Amino acid sequence: LPLVSVQALKKHFPINKHQTVKALNGISFNIHKGETFGLVGESGCGKSTVGRTIMGLYLPTAGQVHINGKDIHQTSVQENRTRRRQVQMIFQDPYASLNPRATIFEIIAEPLEIHQVHKDKNALRQHVYKLLEEVGLNPSHAHRYPHEFSGGQRQRVGIARALALEPEIIIADEPISALDVSIQAQIVLLLQRLQQEKKLTYLFIAHDLAMVKYLSDRVGVMYLGQMAEVAGSDELYANPLHPYTQALLSAIPVPDPDLEQKRQRILLKGELPSAINPPTGCVFHTRCPQAQAVCRQQPPVWKEHAPGHFAACHFIAEGNR
Ligand code: SF4
Ligand code: MG
Repeated sequence: LPLVSVQALKKHFPINKHQTVKALNGISFNIHKGETFGLVGESGCGKSTVGRTIMGLYLPTAGQVHINGKDIHQTSVQENRTRRRQVQMIFQDPYASLNPRATIFEIIAEPLEIHQVHKDKNALRQHVYKLLEEVGLNPSHAHRYPHEFSGGQRQRVGIARALALEPEIIIADEPISALDVSIQAQIVLLLQRLQQEKKLTYLFIAHDLAMVKYLSDRVGVMYLGQMAEVAGSDELYANPLHPYTQALLSAIPVPDPDLEQKRQRILLKGELPSAINPPTGCVFHTRCPQAQAVCRQQPPVWKEHAPGHFAACHFIAEGNR
């Protein structure tokens, strides 16, 4: 049984009487216990909507999300309370997600107070100090405010807060995109260490494949509200089947200058279409270098082409596996 199972998930946001943003149009994938699942795609492809729906913040238009076999949108109040502790989120911009008027002590203590984890103040204080130490912050700075910290330190505060209720699943929505490159590696190492120590499962959302390569056990590539491809990380980078994944991978620079010169970049034509009026047939057909007439008419089928390697495209040759 997968820890998280997303099945035929749709999420449409009505914007007025006649128009709907089709943020998710039927995506399916699983996340296994203890793994990091990287979810990649351009901004607006729906990846944050996936994260928020798994958090229980959005009600699906159709389809289901199961956590530990339970449909999270068909649960009792008590089960919802448990799930709110079980799944936590880390955000892209730690500054925007932290209350500027609260000390970092208050910020990290808040979820513990809401869930009445401790009966006495001293136990609460010790718990907050322990969390600060776990993310590499000095407990003697607990009385300071978010603006007194650097971006990387603020993200550590966000991580400490997410860990407070001992979650099983962390949804990290572009947690390092806003940080300096020199700081990114430190936060990635912190997330990896915490995963090992606490047996965490990560959904790691990012906009480029280079970033998730190093971190993820499996990767899902999204395009305009649909999943284009899912595979084990090594398999995806060695043998991408979907033309969109191939294009994204071709844009990652390679360290060897000789190889870098020979590298063939696949350039996508045109702009990302609107999620209000997504293209007919294969949603990628307006930009796909391999599109044929049938792609405009017929949506491709989501299919397993090799064990654990899924993709949706009409023209995946048998020999490509
Ligand atoms: Fe390209 Fe057609 Fe495959 Fe879509 S189905 S990815 S348009 S070749
Ligand atoms: Mg986003």
